Amino acid sequence: MKIVKTITALRSTLKNVQNIAFVPTMGNLHEGHLALVKRAKKNADFVVVSIFVNPLQFLPSEDFNQYPRSLEADCKLLRDLDVDLVFTPEEKDLFPVRQEIMLQLPAVANTLEGKFRPGFFQGVATIVLKFLNIIQPDMAVFGKKDYQQLHIIRLMVQQLNFPIKILDTEIIRAVDGLALSSRNQYLNGAERQEACHLYRVLNTIVSEITSGQHGFLLSEKKAVEYLSERGWGVDYVSIVNQQTLLPASTDDQKLAVLAAARIGTTRLIDNVEFTI
Ligand code: AMP
Repeated sequence: MKIVKTITALRSTLKNVQNIAFVPTMGNLHEGHLALVKRAKKNADFVVVSIFVNPLQFLPSEDFNQYPRSLEADCKLLRDLDVDLVFTPEEKDLFPVRQEIMLQLPAVANTLEGKFRPGFFQGVATIVLKFLNIIQPDMAVFGKKDYQQLHIIRLMVQQLNFPIKILDTEIIRAVDGLALSSRNQYLNGAERQEACHLYRVLNTIVSEITSGQHGFLLSEKKAVEYLSERGWGVDYVSIVNQQTLLPASTDDQKLAVLAAARIGTTRLIDNVEFTI
């Protein structure tokens, strides 16, 4: 496994390489990331994983500085999976000048996560666009854990005519249902025990809707109340159309329920797809 730190070295390494799958990550890898790598390995001849904590996608008030970084352990996990190349660029190589050109995104980027993290998706889409230009992969793999991110990346690739296939993977969870996330390590013991209630409440919504027990709005409201009573700070719990991420309507069949909520100082997101 090659570890490459500069764009120049990366380009020269990839010059004659074909059928590349790209897996973008911010490192601190867990089984969720490894599922993307496995999907990449299955579908391509050469797998590139990037590890880069992207400053463009953090608000000034967010955890850019404390975001867990564990390059050595990450590389060991990737070597065990037979990854071909790890790209760990430095900020000054990716941003030799201030990144003033940013992608302008459609309205969906201002809803859900975008409403609570203004500029987040613009930062994500811009860094992914840069990586796609640098690496020029045949495919790129993203997790459904970041459901809205996956949606926006698909729109970007489609609307900017990238000749790249976007592959997705299901959410990998801990035994109690909590979706794996690098940010889970911010949770203390009690918070970690409580954290699985986010996934539980999403499943409750799915059963309420599929059984016809409640309408969308009531079910969302009850979920917010349930989490709030347990001490969570809820940003949103929203039932949406899978294809558009617009609020679900009664004609829709393929739905997803997306949520973001804070337990202590840690903000968690999760989602569940379902069909009615
Ligand atoms: P991150 O390092 O958090 O930026 O995530 C990198 C990629 O891993 C994104 O495509 C995420 O959606 C994906 N990912 C993170 N956690 C999980 C998980 N628990 N299950 C599946 N994919 C995940």
